[in-house]
Amino acid sequence: MHYDVIVIGLGGMGSAAAFHLADRGQNVLGLEKFTPAHDKGSSHGGSRIIRQSYFEDPAYVPLLLRSYELWAQLAQESGEEVYRITGGLFIGREDSVTVAGSLKASQQWSLPHEILDAAQVKSRFPAFDLNDDEIALFEAAAGFARPELTVQAHIDLAIKRGATLQFGETVLEWAEIDGGVRVVTDKGSYTAGQVVICPGAWAPGLLEQFGVPIVVERQVLYWFDPVGGTTPFEHHPIFIHEAADGMQDYGFPAIDGPDGGVKVAFFRKGQECTPDTIDRTVYPEEIEAMRTRVSETLPALDGDCLDTATCMYSNTPDEHFVIARHPDAANVTVACGFSGHGFKFVPVVGEILADLATTGRTEHPIALFDPRRLVTV
Ligand SMILES: Cc1cc2nc3c(=O)[nH]c(=O)nc-3n(C[C@H](O)[C@H](O)[C@H](O)COP(=O)(O)OP(=O)(O)OC[C@H]3O[C@@H](n4cnc5c(N)ncnc54)[C@H](O)[C@@H]3O)c2cc1C
Repeated sequence: MHYDVIVIGLGGMGSAAAFHLADRGQNVLGLEKFTPAHDKGSSHGGSRIIRQSYFEDPAYVPLLLRSYELWAQLAQESGEEVYRITGGLFIGREDSVTVAGSLKASQQWSLPHEILDAAQVKSRFPAFDLNDDEIALFEAAAGFARPELTVQAHIDLAIKRGATLQFGETVLEWAEIDGGVRVVTDKGSYTAGQVVICPGAWAPGLLEQFGVPIVVERQVLYWFDPVGGTTPFEHHPIFIHEAADGMQDYGFPAIDGPDGGVKVAFFRKGQECTPDTIDRTVYPEEIEAMRTRVSETLPALDGDCLDTATCMYSNTPDEHFVIARHPDAANVTVACGFSGHGFKFVPVVGEILADLATTGRTEHPIALFDPRRLVTV
């Protein structure tokens, strides 16, 4: 069977691409090795921070503004709470990347924000206990997305728009053919005019000739039961805290009620792995390190650890994404290397991938994501 577009990988990015392509009337085949909204890649664990005052680089802000519009449309059409606005606190010393970078992006793009000192944070959000030399940027527009609900919503709506999505089917190889691409899986062989590859942590295998160095990292999520109960954490902002050592930890409100606990994690403290070698065991010393760090800022989180989960980052050397037409394969579009901060872009990346696959170009500013900056072979 011949398709207009085959999407390989239906995780965060691929499910969004399949939806936007089907929405434009393309005849889409999606291929995914696991089940819908599975927990073996990078798009699971109940919540992902979304925010606009982007300390990583102000160049991301226009994409975030578009992403927010698309989240609202997705929530509306799916009827699911795919995201929630809670406000966000970005905490650290005045010159930290987290505070100074968030302020730079806010000022450059005139995003509403407030700067709060430690006492002001305490009076508005009593669960926090900042050091006297720490301040926070408060962004009212920040919040969280629900990764599993988002992936499932994109899958459901893509199918509703006529896409054929096949699960439990692994792509073994792809090759350019006259007028398009052939994709071979463990179950069959398909051709299409265009292919969109969204392989997450499997990028090093599936995009071997691509030449972009991607390091896959094991990350751990922790759910703590706050001492004294979850009430102070129920209407609570998301937060990112940068300590004096430069490490960032982050967390969420108690979004799943009193029994769900409060989810926290380190932003970048992973161990290099592959999807085959990742150690899914979480060790007591890891839990202790997380508890010690997070309870410096949120003392009530010195409570029981209710649950943990592992997840993978796919890091590029500069931690910026890779989104482009494949430099050596005219009919192939690639989205990978989301470096632990991609989820908040899922809806807009879907739109960009649909642009690239159907027209070869996009109006969105994606120069930062050009793979040629990284290619080493
Ligand atoms: C612990 C953790 C916390 C994070 N927190 C945030 C956050 O707060 N905010 C934020 O914006 N981002 C966050 N991120 C990053 C964000 O979740 C990722 O950037 C995003 O989910 C990546 O999506 P993806 O589509 O590239 O990967 P995935 O969702 O993993 O999708 C890739 C898919 O490809 C499939 N696949 C691979 N190879 C094949 C094959 N050969 N055949 C068929 N299918 C294949 C896989 O099974 C998978 O479903 C976090 C990530 C982690 C791990």
